[in-house]
Amino acid sequence: MTTHIESEEHRALRAAVAALGTRHGRGHDHRALWSEAGGLGYLGVNLPEAYGGGGGGITELSIVLEELGAAGCPLLMLIVSPAICGTVIARFGTEEQRRTWLPGLADGSRLMAFGITEPDAGSNSHRITTTARRDGADWLLSGRKVFVSGVDIADATLVVGRTEDARTGRLKPCLFIVPRDTPGFGRRKIDMELDAQEKQFELTLDDVRLPAGALVGGGDDAGLLQLFAGLNPERIMTAAFAIGMGRYAVARAVEYARDRTVWTSPIGAHQAIAHPLAQAHIDLELARLMMQKAAALYDAGDDAGAGEAANMAKYAAGEACARAVDQAVHTLGGNGLTREFGLASLITAARVARIAPVSREMILNYVSHQTLGLPKSY
Ligand SMILES: Cc1cc2nc3c(=O)[nH]c(=O)nc-3n(C[C@H](O)[C@H](O)[C@H](O)COP(=O)(O)OP(=O)(O)OC[C@H]3O[C@@H](n4cnc5c(N)ncnc54)[C@H](O)[C@@H]3O)c2cc1C
Repeated sequence: MTTHIESEEHRALRAAVAALGTRHGRGHDHRALWSEAGGLGYLGVNLPEAYGGGGGGITELSIVLEELGAAGCPLLMLIVSPAICGTVIARFGTEEQRRTWLPGLADGSRLMAFGITEPDAGSNSHRITTTARRDGADWLLSGRKVFVSGVDIADATLVVGRTEDARTGRLKPCLFIVPRDTPGFGRRKIDMELDAQEKQFELTLDDVRLPAGALVGGGDDAGLLQLFAGLNPERIMTAAFAIGMGRYAVARAVEYARDRTVWTSPIGAHQAIAHPLAQAHIDLELARLMMQKAAALYDAGDDAGAGEAANMAKYAAGEACARAVDQAVHTLGGNGLTREFGLASLITAARVARIAPVSREMILNYVSHQTLGLPKSY
């Protein structure tokens, strides 16, 4: 008898999503895949059933993203739309916000982007200056954001800003839902050297007028909690993205190394080719174990425990992915750099998981300070 870490249900979900991914494959049309996956209920597996979701958790959603990635067709917006925005709205949104947004996020007919990064506040999100002030019953939101993914295809962007605390006068974090075509909400596509269908944007918010109902939660004091509620799923999902991509690359390299014969045996028989691929496979499997731990803790409601595990999983997966892709490209020799084999563009794509949503250095800082209790340099 084989004992599995994953339940039978989870393995069935993996197999079904893998079959969908294989039908679409690399070079897929992400809109067609998005709508088919939405129709099958995969995009909203983590969202509450009462609002059209599958009633599962980040465990299930990470399986969906990993398997699509392993088939060569990752959907980056899964990290943002159902995982961050869906989670924040499900946990902290008003009843009205839940009813307005969750069914569409769950079936994929609506999409939400997430903007926190600013030109002067990347790794240091304490420095964000996007600020909302009251104007009668409305809010006026002003500031700038960079590198926000998918704003053009998203119906709205969940923007992290600050408002002044009425009692202390200090600025506290808050989240606003900003519909795409709101006057004063401008976007410019950033020219990225990334071969991905989802684009990144610089956003300008110039006194964007928003109704009171645009503030997530409707004005209670949960701004920071709301933000953290979205960040752990984001890290777990980025791990899934990286593990899927790494698996895709290793699989292509293994296929190639089994056949390609330069001397008398296939190159996969040379340990200089076989061992790094075996190592890459082990590293991806280890990263997946940590991702499963993080997702299990998060889904069980242990936000603090999930925080540490999600950071470690994102780190491990980002490193494993970058090494796996590098080794896969190398395994194909010159073909590793051709468009026909399509692996070289993964070199830049794999770097994303080392940088976003939180860089490898900031995770090493987190583990140094929070886990090991070492002093801070900054
Ligand atoms: C493809 C892509 C998609 C993205 N999508 C989104 C999105 O949808 N929404 C969004 O809000 N953002 C998004 N981002 C932005 C991403 O989250 C940021 O790029 C990331 O947080 C790093 O910020 P930064 O680029 O400003 O780098 P910086 O903060 O300027 O860091 C630069 C380098 O310095 C290092 N560094 C900084 N501080 C320290 C320190 N204290 N100790 C050691 N090293 C340090 C970093 O590790 C990094 O290597 C995306 C980025 C990319 C590349």
